[in-house]
Amino acid sequence: MPRLLALSGLTLLLSCFQVFSQTPEQYLDQARAIQNDPKVKAANDYIDKNRERILREWIAITEINAPSGYEHERAKYIEKLLGKHRLQSIRYDAAGNLIAVRKGTGGGPVVVFDAQLDTVFQPGLKIKATIREGRVHAPGVGDDTRNIEALLATIGALDAAGIETKGDLVFVFTVEEETNFTGVKQFIKDNKDKINYYIALDGGYEGFTYAGIGINWYRHHFVGPGGHTRSRTPPYSASLPLARAISKIYELRVPTNPSSNLNIGMLRGSDVVNAKASDAWFTVDLRSTSNKVIADLEKKIAAILEKEARRANVTLKTEVISTSPAAVIPGHRNSKMVMVAEAVHRAMGFDPPITPTGSNNASPALLQGVPSISTGAGPCDHSHALTENCEIEPLYKGIKKILLLELALAQL
Ligand SMILES: [Zn+2]
Repeated sequence: MPRLLALSGLTLLLSCFQVFSQTPEQYLDQARAIQNDPKVKAANDYIDKNRERILREWIAITEINAPSGYEHERAKYIEKLLGKHRLQSIRYDAAGNLIAVRKGTGGGPVVVFDAQLDTVFQPGLKIKATIREGRVHAPGVGDDTRNIEALLATIGALDAAGIETKGDLVFVFTVEEETNFTGVKQFIKDNKDKINYYIALDGGYEGFTYAGIGINWYRHHFVGPGGHTRSRTPPYSASLPLARAISKIYELRVPTNPSSNLNIGMLRGSDVVNAKASDAWFTVDLRSTSNKVIADLEKKIAAILEKEARRANVTLKTEVISTSPAAVIPGHRNSKMVMVAEAVHRAMGFDPPITPTGSNNASPALLQGVPSISTGAGPCDHSHALTENCEIEPLYKGIKKILLLELALAQL
């Protein structure tokens, strides 16, 4: 090996070692140093001085309903707000995601912050937010409008304090998170090789996730000839193997580590009291942070179903409603990105829960090998319900946390 190559290899190895050998305390010191930078203090002051305006903007965006596939009106409103800031490009991609870039001075990583535009509510729903006892009540106020507003507020704060980052900050307001991840999948497909870190803001406040839980949904049918209650054949309604199978499936051991869940939430037999069911079905929602656990439980469930179908002499039919594998990057928990995110949370005074159980836009990114986490800017309740509401006061701290995360990752 040429001497020069050997040397540069060694240098590379050493610099890698330096990057990855930082202790949690060193990461924390760096996060605190950023917090103490006078410009960052000025940015935080901006957030404090603009509390009322931030609250009003948050409510205004919330009141534009944006069901999945109908995000454009809300996107247009946000596009106008982005237009007032120092952003290099504001555009839409093929899926309808709204993308804005805050160019860095150079030499830093490209850091993407994502907040989803869409809500789960039906088109035409009139939304009027109300404030009661320190909380904003409105469908969609938390999921995910609090995080849209958090991004807008940080963009304002960065401009007001004249902060420049080394790396580019990319803000993407994504479509169709609630349905099939169309928006994030398009964005990752177009930009995969240019992204160093991807942060999906969705839910969360005190902690964050660094992997996505795998989720498989099935509908299992037992199909028999049915018939009147008094009919002699077949002897049983297809509801009998259904009941036996459900009881056996709930006897399966579902591990807690790796974190896993099994739920049978829906079932159906005959349409009337006086008929044997000819098609009795039930659903299974199977989740785990380990794809091996999902595969193992899937096999055990299939064996139970086949046995009970044979025993009752009915046919088995399994429909796969949807599958989404666990999104895990080996070693990610101890990567620089996750260590920085942990330090940022600690510097903000949180003792963060850090889990591999995310279920949001971070998963499609992780599945494509893009280092990703998900977190959020404030505590809320009743997401996906008309009674959804969020605490107001913690949002301001949450915005400062997102700002610190932007600066710690994109580098001051
Ligand atoms: Zn949601």
